[in-house]
Amino acid sequence: MKKQVVVIGLGRFGSSVCRELYALGHEVLAIDQDVEKVDAVNDFSSQASVANATDEKDLKSLGVRNFQHAIIAIGDDLQASVLCTLMVKDLGVEKVWVKARDLQHQKILEKVGADRVIQPENEMGIRVAHHVDSEKIVDY
Ligand code: ATP
Repeated sequence: MKKQVVVIGLGRFGSSVCRELYALGHEVLAIDQDVEKVDAVNDFSSQASVANATDEKDLKSLGVRNFQHAIIAIGDDLQASVLCTLMVKDLGVEKVWVKARDLQHQKILEKVGADRVIQPENEMGIRVAHHVDSEKIVDY
């Protein structure tokens, strides 16, 4: 089933989520404050817009409230990440998944209502370890 997803923050993580969801056939609105990041996903999203993710007016005018799912991928600017999470939740987006850079960031995001918090490096590290572990069966 086609989903409506808004991806906010188009660094390495956000842009890769955006491209993959779009390739899978979903409707993807991509948002970043940096015009170059937005241009880079222009052909790999349904709509790509320059906006400030901490500005409620920007989020409202882009119709973020109409999306079922949001991925917020702002890692370095903790304040922007938290504010954006609060606003997107307040707008009524059902599932808000947010990237965190560390455990402290994760705890704050959980408190303000993030539905899922992702630490990509941690999760990928665990996944790679399991791949290595499962290879012992093949190697033996
Ligand atoms: P990566 O996924 O590359 O590891 P990162 O975790 O280092 O990224 P940042 O580089 O801090 O995260 O942010 C990712 C993106 O979010 C950047 O492209 C940046 O322009 C964008 N961004 C940061 N703050 C805002 C904001 N207030 N509004 C819109 N976009 C923002």
